[in-house]
Amino acid sequence: LVIGVPRETFPGETRVATVPEVVQKLIKQGYAIAVESGAGNLSNISDDEYRAAGAEIVSAADVWAKSDIIFKLRGPNEQEVGLLKEGGTLVSYIWPAQNPELMEKLAAKKATVLAMDSVPRISRAQKMDALSSQANIAGYRAVIEAANAFGRFFTGQITAAGKVPPAKVFVIGAGVAGLAAIGTAANLGAIVRANDTRKEVADQIISMGGEFVAVDYEEDGAGTGGYAKVMSEGFQKAQRETFAQQAKEVDIIITTALIPGKPAPKLITAEMVQSMKPGSVIVDLAAEQGGNCELTVPGEVTTVHGVTIIGYKDLPTRLAKTASTLYATNLFRLSEDLIKTNSVDPAGEGAAAIHMNMEDEVIRGTTVIDQGNVTWPPPAPKLS
Ligand code: NAD
Repeated sequence: LVIGVPRETFPGETRVATVPEVVQKLIKQGYAIAVESGAGNLSNISDDEYRAAGAEIVSAADVWAKSDIIFKLRGPNEQEVGLLKEGGTLVSYIWPAQNPELMEKLAAKKATVLAMDSVPRISRAQKMDALSSQANIAGYRAVIEAANAFGRFFTGQITAAGKVPPAKVFVIGAGVAGLAAIGTAANLGAIVRANDTRKEVADQIISMGGEFVAVDYEEDGAGTGGYAKVMSEGFQKAQRETFAQQAKEVDIIITTALIPGKPAPKLITAEMVQSMKPGSVIVDLAAEQGGNCELTVPGEVTTVHGVTIIGYKDLPTRLAKTASTLYATNLFRLSEDLIKTNSVDPAGEGAAAIHMNMEDEVIRGTTVIDQGNVTWPPPAPKLS
């Protein structure tokens, strides 16, 4: 089977769905790899590096025409759906709930589609969880962006020229991105505090070098599947009071709070921004879902009352090579599972065929279209 990796066409996208190290591994699994010429350019990976790893470098038209399976990052645009082979397999982000038309078009192509945004969030699937691998990068990069916009050291210093206090960073939401931000800011020497509505993460905040800021209100935010729920009015009021206090004290706020299927909760008000010291920085990782800060302009950097508010929606693409490498590894792990289910096949075809084992919770959850049949959403997980 041929796996094809096209160049990403979405404006501003710098990542690519495979990297030379992973090409070598996929070839060992028995696949042939076709990479579109220039696909790795924006991740600083040349055609020659892919070629040296064993891939064939092909044109944009050929990568779709030759490949049985397409590995991509962004869901395909209309033209790309047109290029996908009838009955072909596509592995990319899809976001089926937000993209019903795309789902229809892919189903009409009799495609089999595995959505990287739909990998079940269970321990066994962590190695193929692209949302986590990319959120980790976003959390790291948020701190780097904050440090770049902030006019002081993160770490405190006592120098011959005077004493410099450490920066104080407040992280809101301690999921994958938030924990990465806490660890990065702590490693740079800042004093880091963090809050999350899910109480279970308090220990994780501490283990990353942060201090847990509690809200004085008895309510736990844990919803279904390890995600957060919408909090009561009473909690929200108490949380706003806590955040108003933090806003006055800290130099940098990094917000990452999300609730699946809902717009991002507005947690930092205009008033809180106004109360921050001039020169402070807010990085709003929830910008794509509308932002956690009332004043965030998604995709933009703005300055309000002397506070820089960074609303970038593309943080992983700003660390293109690492983001590509981790995404490529997530895809490789997924393909390994597809092969594993295959290798129990008595025909022993290896990578000569992919057998979708729909009994497997991870494969079932990730497969949103199976040979033209829409299989999304998957059945709810069995309660144990
Ligand atoms: P997310 O991106 O959905 O949300 C980020 C964080 O914001 C969460 O920790 C959430 O509790 C918090 N939040 C929501 N509303 C808030 C509010 N009003 N105030 C403060 N904080 C608020 O989360 P995520 O990073 O996707 O992780 C969610 C959970 O899933 C975590 O427990 C994580 O460990 C788990 N997870 C498991 C796997 C796996 O097992 N494969 C993979 C990834 C994540």
